[in-house]
Amino acid sequence: MSDNKTATQRTTIVCTTIKDVRSEIDKLKKSGKKIGFVPTMGALHAGHLSLIQHAREKSDAVVVSIFVNPTQFGPNEDYDSYPRQVESDIKDCEQEGVSIVFVPDRGEVYDEKNYLNITVEELNNHMCGGSRPGFFEGILLIVNKLFNIIKPDVAVFGQKDIQQVQIIRQMVHEFNHDIEILCASIVRANDGLALSSRNMYLDENERVIAPSLYRALHYIESQVMSGVDTPKLLLDHQKSELEAKGLEIDYLNVFDKKTLQPVPVLSKGSEYIIAGAVYLGETRLIDNILIEL
Ligand code: AMP
Repeated sequence: MSDNKTATQRTTIVCTTIKDVRSEIDKLKKSGKKIGFVPTMGALHAGHLSLIQHAREKSDAVVVSIFVNPTQFGPNEDYDSYPRQVESDIKDCEQEGVSIVFVPDRGEVYDEKNYLNITVEELNNHMCGGSRPGFFEGILLIVNKLFNIIKPDVAVFGQKDIQQVQIIRQMVHEFNHDIEILCASIVRANDGLALSSRNMYLDENERVIAPSLYRALHYIESQVMSGVDTPKLLLDHQKSELEAKGLEIDYLNVFDKKTLQPVPVLSKGSEYIIAGAVYLGETRLIDNILIEL
């Protein structure tokens, strides 16, 4: 480790086993530290780093997990090709003053055969849950495990995956995890594209087209905020515009923030999520905007 690193950078501990991470966290807790947790699948970018900064503000010691979770990938999805760059991720965590990075391998987290699962009712009928069967069950499985391993006081998730945030909030409530869930806003590139580890898959032309999703969401937001309360035509028009640019629509709709169901007629005083997912070549992009009428 080079000498020009600050004291905070030097204290990052990397753990690969549950036993070790528990023992390091015990030490922090015994010295009275409040633990902030940021679960990630690695390939860290400025969006992840903003979550770490948020966790630092809300706690005394930050734990980051890096684990590409197999149970949240469908059989034809990109588990094998998902970007993995653990060494540079650890360096980023050091720079951000992270206390512990937990990087377990698959066998440390999952047995050869698992007998139990968590099922989700209704909250995963639409949005990403609608098109990725088993996705949120896989997420809840890993987040539940990580919460039991790390036992944080607060955990920070990104609004980028708003359905995930809402379903995890529900799990914390129903399973009585004593953890405060915080939601950090979406970090975007200058042209509006939400940062994502999967943006690495985009070629030069696709990267130019990619911000169209955010522009469409932004346009829908402006129309809804200026009084459009039945958004179907507006949504259909935006879908056609995106398709004309070469994007394949998975979904584009306005959803109730709590029930995560699509809402055909919007009403004053309610909170909504304007959300979309599109395919650009092989790459799936998601984005959303939260609004309150
Ligand atoms: P992932 O590594 O994709 O599982 O993401 C780990 C966490 O980072 C999740 O809580 C994501 O919602 C969050 N995240 C991903 N992209 C962004 C972004 N552009 N801005 C803020 N948070 C993000």
